Amino acid sequence: MSESFLSQPYFHSEAAAYGFIEARLWANGVICPHCGEIGKAGKLGGASTRIGTWKCYGCRKPFTVKVGTIFESSHIKLHLWLQAIFLIASSKKGISSNQLHRTLGVTLKSAWFMAHRIREAMKDGSPGLLGGGGSIVEADETFMTPKKGEKVKAAGHHRAKVVSLVQRDGKTRSFHVANVDAANLRPILMANIAKDSHLMTDGAGHYRPIGKEFDLHESTNHQTKEYAKPSKVAGVSAHSNTVEAYFSVLKRGITGTYQRVSEQHLQRYVDEFDFRFSNRKSLGVDDATRADRLLMGVVGKRLTYETTRG
Ligand SMILES: [Zn+2]
Repeated sequence: MSESFLSQPYFHSEAAAYGFIEARLWANGVICPHCGEIGKAGKLGGASTRIGTWKCYGCRKPFTVKVGTIFESSHIKLHLWLQAIFLIASSKKGISSNQLHRTLGVTLKSAWFMAHRIREAMKDGSPGLLGGGGSIVEADETFMTPKKGEKVKAAGHHRAKVVSLVQRDGKTRSFHVANVDAANLRPILMANIAKDSHLMTDGAGHYRPIGKEFDLHESTNHQTKEYAKPSKVAGVSAHSNTVEAYFSVLKRGITGTYQRVSEQHLQRYVDEFDFRFSNRKSLGVDDATRADRLLMGVVGKRLTYETTRG
């Protein structure tokens, strides 16, 4: 039997955690966050020196790998951050702040702070267009269950709406929208899907005019229980089952793990589920690789989330 993945030293030792993150973020040489010099810094030793402190030979200033990342200005140990990243990356339906608090032995407030910052790291840093070259992008929308205590006037009204675009062999991107109609959907589809893509949706009327913008648009009629049909492209099945599968994970996660989230925070949670589904097992991404990709996203996200410190 192989050893538990959680026995890796960087989950337990602060020095190993620094070493691991340095090796990943500075793969091409130590980067000074003050002056930008690469590969011109020395590690400071000595009993009184903080773990992970480097000194730049150019500007003479000290720094650690935490500068400019979601870890900056956090007092939480880096090996605990790595544990949290692994747990969040590998839990298909997410992990609540309460669970993180109990598992990591940090305060509930710290757990909440860590989870929010890790969600920042999960944001797609290099958006670009989905699809292209004839590849298939499925689009669909869903209505989220309202948070406990939030009033719902009538079916379909005042429920949070999410539109998701899933490249069948690639990334997922979701948007919290005010309304599901052509006026709201068109700009999202146009800005996120390459025109030379094969769009697949259900029979909803609002996709018909938008569909003409793409090389090929095919839809299945869910009202007549048609969920898949042969595509005009040989060897391809026309369906939107991949995006439906995504909604199933998203809804079970939001209602089960997070006990529903308010509309105000919904986009952040949706970003989290997008990240995991973009790096899903069926695309050959295992838990360790997904956690590694999440870790690579910690850089440059600090500025977008300055409101809380922990
Ligand atoms: Zn420097």
